[in-house]
Amino acid sequence: MEKVDSRVKLQYLSVESIDQNASQIIALDVIFAQNHSAMKDQVRVRFAPSPTGPLHVGGLRTALFNYLFAKQHGGAFILRIEDTDQKRYVAGAEDYIIKALDWCHIPADESPTNPGAYGPYRQSERQDIYTAWAHKLVQQGSAYYAFDSNEELEALRREQETNGQTFVYNFNNRATLTNGLNMSEASVQQRINSGDAYVIRFKAPHNRLLKLQDQIRGTVSIDCNTLDDKILYKSDGMPTYHLANVIDDHLMKITHVIRGEEWLPSLALHVLLYEAFGWNPPEFAHLPLILKPSGNGKLSKRDGDKLGFPVFPIDWEGEIPAKGFKGAGYLPEALINFLGLLGWNPGTEQELFSLTEMTKAFSLSSVNKGGARFDIEKLNWFNQQYLAKMAPSQLAPILKKSFPFLNNFPESQLNKVVALTQERLVFIDDFWSAAGYFFKAPNSFDEKALKRIARAETSSLIDRIIAVLSTYDESASTTLQEYIKNWISSNNIGFGAVMQPLRLALVGDLKGPDVFDIITILGRKEACQRMAFLQSKL
Ligand code: GLU
Repeated sequence: MEKVDSRVKLQYLSVESIDQNASQIIALDVIFAQNHSAMKDQVRVRFAPSPTGPLHVGGLRTALFNYLFAKQHGGAFILRIEDTDQKRYVAGAEDYIIKALDWCHIPADESPTNPGAYGPYRQSERQDIYTAWAHKLVQQGSAYYAFDSNEELEALRREQETNGQTFVYNFNNRATLTNGLNMSEASVQQRINSGDAYVIRFKAPHNRLLKLQDQIRGTVSIDCNTLDDKILYKSDGMPTYHLANVIDDHLMKITHVIRGEEWLPSLALHVLLYEAFGWNPPEFAHLPLILKPSGNGKLSKRDGDKLGFPVFPIDWEGEIPAKGFKGAGYLPEALINFLGLLGWNPGTEQELFSLTEMTKAFSLSSVNKGGARFDIEKLNWFNQQYLAKMAPSQLAPILKKSFPFLNNFPESQLNKVVALTQERLVFIDDFWSAAGYFFKAPNSFDEKALKRIARAETSSLIDRIIAVLSTYDESASTTLQEYIKNWISSNNIGFGAVMQPLRLALVGDLKGPDVFDIITILGRKEACQRMAFLQSKL
């Protein structure tokens, strides 16, 4: 979409027309509110990532908690792309985020690709809105134009540093700096008209103590004297995160802002912006950090390489490709279940939650304040649990993606193999080591296992087993298992002496599911051939 350079336009707007522009937006906003008054009470939450690369599991957990909260309240889950920082923009990231949410079965109800009534859903397409509102704040005295150059500010910063102090643009020094608070309206306009670079800064209140409510943290007190006059609108005509985020949350009728703890320091500014605009703020909930498995520090995007497990949901094919949980053989149900319990405490012993169960049980008040350790072993356990309990007919198509040769295998047979082996899988790719012998006869045997079965009589016993297997009558009322067992006991042969060579011949190892179940799938002919091959290796 074509970008509108609002800055250029504004140079030619008089202060009066800027005001008109903003009041038009206010009028629109009122109409907008009236139009949607029927939906006033509907819960609306948003996930607002910046498209700076693949979505990290921390972001995915934030999306999940928003999704759960929305669905529990019959509300809407919105995806808004916060792409105003052009320098950090990474092509493909938005697409990745949407695909990742889809893979996890938590798609947004409104998004850039599935817009609702509150679009556009990409901030880069909302520049005009921010421009008008930023100037409105200046008009009413809550914000001001500042013309200080980077060099000037840098020099002040250095000067303060040499005195052991930190430079902060705030109530202490704003009267001495180059800004609209210290200039006549005419000279401000003249500088803007002549194309001088400016930013718009928020005039943070002096001597005020804010007591804010957070749904997870309770009351959060902030002394406004610790705040700086944050830039709301940059010299490139783009809003900063703070301005755009607050305007959009209001215009998109967001009722609850559920986001990571790293945004808690911005809460005071955001609430002050709501106040300056005369808007009711939404409820806020700041989620605890996700910590490294060691518990030391935040799990970062770079940890994936270092710790040997993925930190992204699906594979990232960007400049520096990275494997995702999907590519590493994890099921989205397991990942979502695991992430749901990272920070949220259901208050019971229950660990396995489907998305529907989690939606019912979730509550913001049972989200912990403290960081949650990312325990990869626990995630592996969840994956194993989900692989084990999946319907074979559901798991088979997933396995086929990793093992295309399975497409040539009859469906009902494959489902039987899956049913027999699925509890042995931790990852999708374990299927070959757990079930490969169903598709390819063993061509060698472990030395230790061979030694274990090798006795003087093993070879002749194999002949007898082959014979008895061949004589079994499929139409008989006894099962193959009963038939073989009867034969073993009536001939006084040890059970292990028969079952061990049989298992080794079929599986190539002394482990695996029930031998008779294996024979049922492979067929007696194949079983006899495998016995003969084992015999040749004794
Ligand atoms: N764009 C911010 C981010 O990347 C959104 C923070 C918020 O949810 O307010 O996380």
